[in-house]
Amino acid sequence: MENIGSLQTTKAILDKYKLSAKISLGQNFLVDLKVIDKIIDHVDKSDDCVIVEVGPGLGALTEKLLTISKKVIAIEIDKNMVEVMEDNFKDKENFEIIHEDILKVDLQKLVTDLRKEYKDVYLVANLPYYITSDILLSVFALDDPFDQVMIMVQAEFGQRLVSAHNTKDYRPVTVIAKTFYKCNLSFNVSKNVFLPKPNITSAIVKLVRKDTKIEDKADYIKFVQLCFTQKRKTLFNNLRTEFSNEFTTSLLESAKIPLNSRPAQLDINDYIRLYGVYDETKILC
Ligand code: SAM
Repeated sequence: MENIGSLQTTKAILDKYKLSAKISLGQNFLVDLKVIDKIIDHVDKSDDCVIVEVGPGLGALTEKLLTISKKVIAIEIDKNMVEVMEDNFKDKENFEIIHEDILKVDLQKLVTDLRKEYKDVYLVANLPYYITSDILLSVFALDDPFDQVMIMVQAEFGQRLVSAHNTKDYRPVTVIAKTFYKCNLSFNVSKNVFLPKPNITSAIVKLVRKDTKIEDKADYIKFVQLCFTQKRKTLFNNLRTEFSNEFTTSLLESAKIPLNSRPAQLDINDYIRLYGVYDETKILC
């Protein structure tokens, strides 16, 4: 089977297996070969990479990902999709599929195991938007991160991942994403290229690993979220919900952050510096 991501082939596969898109699993299949090629074009290529693809569906992206990598490991929650994929790619030795909910997969173990065999480990995902935040937060917390992440997100969420400080879209997820990855909004994707058509515009975001030295990433993520507890309040007031007045004052002063700053006023380096001071002194709080 070729060009799985064309409208004609997608419909033919669904007919053949007597399947229809499951809305509860966010199944909106890509049915435009030009858009699929554009996504593949935006992936930074490597001679020695393995791609973990989450939510492969019928294999529209998988088919092309197999041509730019040494191996594709797909993780799919829907048994029906897994059966179709096994059939579609039965001749491909460099393809493996895992039938699992991505939120239950031990990503740390997966990346560490793959790293023993491949120089670069990439993640590609066109997933239901309701799990985007959860999956990205677990990706950001990995000790051994993916080298590159290409993910389809809701356009508004994509904007959040790339926004600058002092703008309305600057959120905890922006700070966390930009701390660990160089974030780029590659392009917007029209709702017309999906079957069935969703009611929102999507965007492809490319994240490329940065080697920021933070030992306990989960703790950093928690700390940034605490700083943004109430976006409009001062950082001081947000930190005060967890720490004493004295500790909070000394933390901000040592990091050279004005006591009346609001969370969106700090850039990524401010957050890394503030967390660094916190990490050294938290035993006292
Ligand atoms: N990649 C295909 C494409 O672009 O046409 C399908 C994309 S569709 C938006 C999302 C896919 O993610 C579906 O195949 C769905 O079954 C799968 N999925 C949904 N929740 C998942 C989860 N928690 N873990 C793994 N796969 C999931």
